[in-house]
Amino acid sequence: MARLTQADLHEMNQTFEERTPQELLRWTQEVFGSRVAALSAMQKAGSVVCHMLRALQLPMKVVFVDTGVHFAETLTTRDRIAREYNLDVVTLVPALTMEEQTARFGVLYLTTEGQQRCCHMRKNEPLLGIKGQFDAFIGSLRRSEGGQREKCPILAVDPEMNCLRVNPLAGFSDQKLDEYIQAHSVIVNPLHDQGYTTIGCNRCTTPVLPGEPPRAGRWRHLGPWSAYCGINPTDFAREESIAIDLSQDLVDRILGRRTDFVI
Ligand code: SF4
Repeated sequence: MARLTQADLHEMNQTFEERTPQELLRWTQEVFGSRVAALSAMQKAGSVVCHMLRALQLPMKVVFVDTGVHFAETLTTRDRIAREYNLDVVTLVPALTMEEQTARFGVLYLTTEGQQRCCHMRKNEPLLGIKGQFDAFIGSLRRSEGGQREKCPILAVDPEMNCLRVNPLAGFSDQKLDEYIQAHSVIVNPLHDQGYTTIGCNRCTTPVLPGEPPRAGRWRHLGPWSAYCGINPTDFAREESIAIDLSQDLVDRILGRRTDFVI
């Protein structure tokens, strides 16, 4: 095994700023083969990634974590994307239903500590359940979302899942995203047209008012609009020294030391 740190990715990240999302998706598929999946919460950026996968004919799975308390519109969007884009969408579920969790621990999401615990049980733990199946996950984080995502790198190590996170849309502006959606009639969660700028569980998501930050509708009851669920490690402060362990061959391929494939 070989160690790959966030610092090791510095040069790759600079080079990749010049690449289009489609080029980055192709690179990821070439490097990781069947060991990469897209991770989507079925919000509009995730829909764009799914559309690009279909357009590029990239045969990667799409992983969706169903917390059990998603909006019906989100589940309908997932099903439409799977069916109409012919994608293999894998749905992960928590160990406990929300009713079982509430009976055992109470209504957790009403406090900051409880939210972290609830998100961990309902989002992180299902994902950790497939740890080892994939060496990379495609995400759909964008810097123009603001907040913690303003500096989101394209490539990021994820020590908890021991994999690489790839965000091909990191440099995609709101305008570019909307233009892509319009140009390709992308299937998007209909809640976006009802004032929901970002969409999570129905317990913790509201629409936003004009002038509010885009994430104001997430955990509004907790304030001050700064909460993240934890499923995306780059949403939190990180050291350049954090690392993952992959095979030497794979690390060489990621860093471009072995290029028997076309970028
Ligand atoms: S968003 Fe709310 S309901 Fe959903 S997992 Fe997190 S705390 Fe629980």
